[in-house]
Amino acid sequence: MPDIARNVYKIKQQIAGICQACHRNPEEITLIAVTKTHPAEFINEALRSGVSHFGENKVQEALRKLPFVSEAYEGFHYIGHLQSNKIRHLLTLKPALIQSIDSIYIAEKLNLAAGNQNLTQNILVQINTTREESKTGVTRENALVSIQKISKLKNLRIKGLMTIGLFDRNPEITRPFFRELNSIFDEVASLDLPNVEMKHLSMGMTDDFPIALEEGSNMVRIGSGIFGARNYNIQGE
Ligand SMILES: *Cc1c(COP(=O)(O)O)cnc(C)c1O
Repeated sequence: MPDIARNVYKIKQQIAGICQACHRNPEEITLIAVTKTHPAEFINEALRSGVSHFGENKVQEALRKLPFVSEAYEGFHYIGHLQSNKIRHLLTLKPALIQSIDSIYIAEKLNLAAGNQNLTQNILVQINTTREESKTGVTRENALVSIQKISKLKNLRIKGLMTIGLFDRNPEITRPFFRELNSIFDEVASLDLPNVEMKHLSMGMTDDFPIALEEGSNMVRIGSGIFGARNYNIQGE
C-alpha cells in the first residue's frame, strides 16, 4: 500500500501553504480523495489519515466497494459521467453530492428517481469549460439556461459547479478555465435562483489543484497525489 497517511499530510500542507499565500482560510477547502480503481482498504486508510470525503466515478465499482468501507466518513461523492440506468443504484449509496450532472436530460432522470425514493439530492452542475469533445458537461454558453432549468426540478438542489481542467503537462494552461468557472459561479450566485446555492466550487486535481485554489476553488479532488498512479487493468471497468 502507498503511504497514504504521509501523502494526505503532504497535500494538506500544500493546501495550507497556498491558502496562506492567497489569504484564504484552509478550513474552507474540502479535500476529496478520489479512490477510483483503488481497493476499499485504501479508502479506509485515507479516512484514518484525516480525509473525510471520497469520490468514485463508476457506479458499479462504488457499489462493489462501499460495503467494505468500515471507517466513518462525511461524504461519498459521485464524480463520473452518470448513465440513466445506473441512477437508482447510485442513490442507494446515499451520495453527499453528485458532482457530475452534465446535461438537463440526466438531471431530469435523477429528479424522477429521487422523487420516487422520496429524497432530495444535492448536486453540482459540471461545466465543460475547456470545450474538449472527450469531456462531458454543459457548455459555457448553455450554463445559465441549463442551471435555470435544473433549478426547477423539485427533488434536486444545486450546490455549486464542477469542472475538469486540461490534461496538459503545464497546469498553467488550465488557469483561464478555472477563472472562467469562478466567474460563472459568481454570476449564478447573483441570480439568487430558488433551490440554487453556490456553495461548492469543485475544481483542481493532483496536477492543477494549486492553480485551482489560487482561482477560488473550495473543493479539490485528489487521486494520484494520495494513492499513487492508477492501474486500470486491475480494478477498473
Ligand atoms: C480521476 C479524477 C480525479 C482525480 O485525478 P488525479 O489526477 O489522480 O488527482 C478528479 N476528478 C475527476 C472527475 C476524476 O475523474
